[in-house]
Amino acid sequence: MDYIDPHIHMVSRTTDDYETLARMGCVAMSEPAFWAGFDRGSVESFRDYFRQLTEFEPKRAAQFGIKHYTWLCINAKEAENVSLSREVIAMIPEFLDASNVLGIGEIGLNKNTKNESTIFLEHVDLAARYNQQILIHTPHLEDKYQGTKMILDMLVSDARIERSRVLVDHVEEHTIQEVLDRGFWAGMTLYPITKCTPARAADMIERFGTERLMANSAGDWGPSKPTAIPDLIMELKRRGHSRDLIRKIVYENPCEFFSQSKNFKAPIAAP
Ligand SMILES: [Zn+2]
Repeated sequence: MDYIDPHIHMVSRTTDDYETLARMGCVAMSEPAFWAGFDRGSVESFRDYFRQLTEFEPKRAAQFGIKHYTWLCINAKEAENVSLSREVIAMIPEFLDASNVLGIGEIGLNKNTKNESTIFLEHVDLAARYNQQILIHTPHLEDKYQGTKMILDMLVSDARIERSRVLVDHVEEHTIQEVLDRGFWAGMTLYPITKCTPARAADMIERFGTERLMANSAGDWGPSKPTAIPDLIMELKRRGHSRDLIRKIVYENPCEFFSQSKNFKAPIAAP
C-alpha cells in the first residue's frame, strides 16, 4: 500500500534505505530538523544542514520517486545554548521559501528546562510571524507527560497559533488523549526500543479513532526501523481493519495535515 512517512531523518540513512522505502510503497516523507548526535558549534553548521535538507535530500529521494519535505529549527537539546539558538532562529527565514519546506520543527522540550522553554516560545513566535505550520517533539520516557503538558500550555497561550496546523509527535497512551482533545494533530512514533510498537499503535487507533492521527518511523541514526509504517499496515491488516481505515492513517491524514502548507502537493498514490 502506498503511504507517507511524516517524520523520518533521512540525513542519517543510506541511499539503499530510500530504495527499500520506495519498494515498500513510500511515496512521500517529511524530515524535521533534529539533533546531529553532537552539539554543533556555530550558526554556519546549521546553514549547511538546512541546505542539505532543502537541496540534497529532495534530490536523493527523487531518484526513487519519493517526494521529500522538511521542517526547520534548532532542536531542544541544543536550545540550552540560547545565543546560538537565537542566531539559528534569525537565519531560518532565509530558507522558508525553499520549495520543500512545510514549517518549523521538530521543536519541543527535552529535559523541560527554562532555556528550552524560552527557545521553544521564540520558535512559536517565528512560526506565527511567517504563517508556518509546526511539528512538535515531545520528550521521551519519564519527562514525557510533564513536557507534553508544558508544550500544549505554551501553544494555547499564543492566540495566533491555529491548533489544526500543529502536529504533536511521539504521543503515547498517556499523552494522546489530551493532544487530540485540545484540537491538535497527533503522531505515533514506531520505534524498536523506546516509543511505541506497531501493536501499541494499532491499539491506540482502536481506542482513539482515526481523526487527526498518523504514524511515523522517526528512522534516524539510532536503533530505529525506517520501514516501521509497513509493519503497522501489516498489524492493522492482521486485525482485520479495512483498507479505507489503514489508508486514512498512512496516506490521507498526512495529506490533509500537510496540505495546510502552500508548498505541499499530494503525491500520486495507488488507491
Ligand atoms: Zn525526530
